[in-house]
Amino acid sequence: RAKAEGKDTFRYFEASMGAEARDRRIMEQDLRQAVARDEFRLVYQPQKEISSGRMVGFEALIRWRHPERGDVPPSVFIPVAEDSGSIAQIGEWVLTTACKEAASWRNPLTIAVNVSAVQLHNPDFSRKVHEVLLRTGLAAGRLELEITETALIKDMPRALATLRQIKALGVRVAMDDFGTGYSSLSNLRAFPFDKIKIDGSFIKSVDRNGQVATIVRAVLGLGRGLGLPVLAEGVETLDELRFLDAEDCDIGQGYYLGRPGPIEAFGELTGVPAADDGVKEDDAVGAT
Ligand code: C2E
Ligand code: MG
Ligand code: MG
Ligand code: MG
Repeated sequence: RAKAEGKDTFRYFEASMGAEARDRRIMEQDLRQAVARDEFRLVYQPQKEISSGRMVGFEALIRWRHPERGDVPPSVFIPVAEDSGSIAQIGEWVLTTACKEAASWRNPLTIAVNVSAVQLHNPDFSRKVHEVLLRTGLAAGRLELEITETALIKDMPRALATLRQIKALGVRVAMDDFGTGYSSLSNLRAFPFDKIKIDGSFIKSVDRNGQVATIVRAVLGLGRGLGLPVLAEGVETLDELRFLDAEDCDIGQGYYLGRPGPIEAFGELTGVPAADDGVKEDDAVGAT
């Protein structure tokens, strides 16, 4: 009788969880298996010097193809992986895969890798980065870690210590999504960033919206004053690019300059030959 009751209680609990919580629980479990099941891959998005159009690097972006759900965007599964702890394993897979890939390229382009708050606050993180560089043979100066302001605020002294260790390796750090977090200005002073990435929400219609243009000009002035190059994310049109060029923005990234794609799509730069199985990816490569 007690057993039956226990069973009922369990079932009741499950039913009361709600579809959303249940779905999340399942996703957490799936994420724990996803590296071993080879469900992740990286796509690469060009970063270009705006004045010349010259390619300077790629940002690596993770993609997850779930056997039943299909493609799940990182904006959906990264927060789940962060809360449930599997981000440590996933983040290490991303870093290793991106560094190994970049080490094989013909041109010494920069590889930018996103780092989550959980990774940054692991006291072992800089040692992990060092180990991956040694293992893959990538020169430290070619790696750039992208960190959002939100990732810094959980434990600022810890984050600062980690950033200093990373920089001592010769790895660069970029502030990602600048303008969307908290207390941007004091963070720029307190943390040793090498680059500012203006969030794409400030680039959208920057050529036509006076208010947004004022903000972008101010960030560019900030970068100049601090001696930090500024990268504009989310450049989608020629007019946005022209505005950024006229305002001396250093680097651009966005669909207009190139969509994220499998590395084989950039063979002329990297020397990576096209896969002979002709694997097609969902992310097409845009205009260059
Ligand atoms: P993020 O680091 O700011 O990456 C830029 C996002 O903007 C990417 O979305 C990219 O595909 C998208 N994007 C690029 N150009 C344009 C454009 O012209 N217009 C628009 N509307 N979007 C553009 P994605 O790949 O879906 O990634 C979303 C976020 O997920 C990333 O934002 C990053 O925070 C996170 N993420 C992606 N890959 C990783 C990873 O390997 N590790 C971690 N921890 N986070 C990742
Ligand atoms: Mg990024
Ligand atoms: Mg960003
Ligand atoms: Mg973002």
